Amino acid sequence: MNKLCVITVTILMGACCNNQSVENDRRHDVFPKGELMVNNPNFTGDAWLEMFVTKADSTDCTVGNVTFAPGVRNSWHSHPGGQILLCTSGEGRYQEKGKPVQVLKPGDVVKIAPDVVHWHGAAPDKEFTHVAIGTQVSKGPARWYEPVTDEEYYNK
Ligand code: MN
Repeated sequence: MNKLCVITVTILMGACCNNQSVENDRRHDVFPKGELMVNNPNFTGDAWLEMFVTKADSTDCTVGNVTFAPGVRNSWHSHPGGQILLCTSGEGRYQEKGKPVQVLKPGDVVKIAPDVVHWHGAAPDKEFTHVAIGTQVSKGPARWYEPVTDEEYYNK
């Protein structure tokens, strides 16, 4: 390979890798963001919801897309029938009572057993989207408890 060719290949590789990096940083929302949840006392700020499957569909599960604005999280709560979170974009946080805060990335799957008290939300500086699957929803609606304090959220 002559010198010009090496330089050309190097530049092309650089362009390729830079594009790849941009591609990785970009949000890939497959599902609609849905509606802003207005005046929902169980969220600390802006969050959007698009429901795909409801109790009326008689599958004993619900499926919805939830997007949290940066820094927004829901209150401590539990689901009598459990819940599964499929993380799709951005960066999130998840914590079960008595355990450390976990960082969530696209591709992560969170399995929440029935009655486990927990919260989920966005990273402080990044939006976050997950598909939330409510399982065995005939066991009853979520039970909501106190808001997640900044101390808990920032894991101080
Ligand atoms: Mn939950």
